[in-house]
Amino acid sequence: MRISLIVLALLVLATAVAAAAPPEQNILLPGTPYATEVYVSRGAPGPAALVMGGVHGNEPAGALAAEQVSGFAVSKGTLIVIPRVNKLALAAGIRTLPEIGDINRAYPGRADGTPAERIAAAVEALIAQYRVSLLVDLHEARTFHRLDHTSLGQMILFAANDRSAELALTAIDHINALIADPVKKFAFGAHPIPGSAAYHAGTAPGLAAFTVETSGRQPLEERAAQHVAIVRSLLRQEGVEAQ
Ligand SMILES: [Zn+2]
Repeated sequence: MRISLIVLALLVLATAVAAAAPPEQNILLPGTPYATEVYVSRGAPGPAALVMGGVHGNEPAGALAAEQVSGFAVSKGTLIVIPRVNKLALAAGIRTLPEIGDINRAYPGRADGTPAERIAAAVEALIAQYRVSLLVDLHEARTFHRLDHTSLGQMILFAANDRSAELALTAIDHINALIADPVKKFAFGAHPIPGSAAYHAGTAPGLAAFTVETSGRQPLEERAAQHVAIVRSLLRQEGVEAQ
């Protein structure tokens, strides 16, 4: 009896250690100027989600949030995170470098194309490799959509399919319950821009895809926390268990 209790205790300990294992780290486009980290955390068999930040170098909250998401302990499903898709632009603090181009207008990309197209193609390859069913791309806009309807700030842009709309509505309810200021509440009603990662991913059957846009007119930590809360809601709805 005592021995079996010890065995049980050891098994519980081993499970806890396994759950806390750091993510596997890979490199996207290794050996090129655009090389950037990809973190993969696996739990029990389940759906796969891809979370990206730093596609635009002047939108740092998405990169910060994605970095935090890459540390989530995954108990079910697979979580793939690219915190700094456009690492060179982030380092320079600008939307992108002219020689790279706008990655979020380059999807589905081309393996032998411009740098933006090559990065997009590498992300597409990851989506296929892991059979990703949820894509979340974290961005920022200049102001609040509720103050200025020409700005996408505080919106979840959802791919044009029912599943994406359903997940976005629930995520908006979740984040808005955490925000007191009516101006800062998230809005529903726009789709990702053609050529963007979420737009292209959303054309694949069964794939829920989102561009999340926070307003840059809030402290960095607050914007990043909003991104993380939205990612948590979307992962939970998709069945990727992570905390
Ligand atoms: Zn952006």
